[in-house]
Amino acid sequence: MFLSLKPLLEGPPFYVLSALFGLIVGSFANVCIYRLPKRESVVTPASHCPSCGTPIRFVDNVPVISYLILRGRCRACGMSISPRYPAVEGLNALLYLAAALRFGGTPATLFYFIFITAMVVITFIDYDHQIIPDEITLPGIPIGLLAAWLILPDPFYRVAGMGLSASLIGAATGFFLYYSIAFLSRGGMGGGDVKMMAMVGAVLGWKGVVLTTFLASCAGSIVGLYLMVFKGRGRKTKVPFGPFLAAGALLSLFVGQEIVYWYIRHGQR
Ligand SMILES: [Zn+2]
Repeated sequence: MFLSLKPLLEGPPFYVLSALFGLIVGSFANVCIYRLPKRESVVTPASHCPSCGTPIRFVDNVPVISYLILRGRCRACGMSISPRYPAVEGLNALLYLAAALRFGGTPATLFYFIFITAMVVITFIDYDHQIIPDEITLPGIPIGLLAAWLILPDPFYRVAGMGLSASLIGAATGFFLYYSIAFLSRGGMGGGDVKMMAMVGAVLGWKGVVLTTFLASCAGSIVGLYLMVFKGRGRKTKVPFGPFLAAGALLSLFVGQEIVYWYIRHGQR
C-alpha cells in the first residue's frame, strides 16, 4: 500500500514545498557557484567559512534564516558573509515557486527546477569568471533531450508534448546560431555560450532559442548603453553575455507563450 502523494502535489501545499525545496537547492547552487570554477568537488568537504575555514554547523547552514540570525557573520571568526549567499537562495526559491504556480505538480516542473538552478549557477559563475562551466552545459544537452522526449511540454504550445525531434532541432539551432556568432565575433562570444544555447534549445526548442536571443540582446544593449553613458565604460568593455542568456531563457520559459501571442496580435495590424 502506498501513501498518496497527491495532496502534496497540488495547490498551496505544493507551492510551499516548492519554495522550500528551492531554498535548499539554492544553498547547493551557492556551493556550485563557489567551487565549480575552482574545479573542486561540490559534494565534499562540507561547507566551511571562506575566511577562517571553520566547518559550518548544520544549524548555521539553514538557507536565508541562518544568515539573518547570525546577522551575516561567521559564528567562529566574525567575518562578514556576502549577502549574495541568501540572495541566491531566495532567488532560486522564488523561481521554483513561479514554476510551481505556472506548471503545477507535474514531472515537467521537477525538470524545470533543475533547468532553473542551472541558469542561476551559470549567471553567477559567468558574472564572476567570464566562463560558463562545461560541467553544467555538456550533461545538460542530453538530459534536456531526454526530458523533452519523455516529459516536457512544448513551451510555446503547451497542450502538446515537446518530443525528441523538436528538441533536437532546438539544440541544433542553439548550437549553430551561437557557433556562427562566436565565429563572426572572433572571441566576443565563447564556446561556453554555444554549449549553453544548445542546452537551452534542447529544453525550449528553436523558438525558445530565437526568443532568448532577442530578449538577451535587448537587455544586453540596455545594460551596455548604461555602462557607457553613466559609468564611462568604453565600447570594448567585456560584459559577460551568459547572465543575459540565462535571464532570456527563463523569461522564454515562463512567459514566452504570452510574448509570442502578444507579438502576433499586435504585429498584424
Ligand atoms: Zn569564519
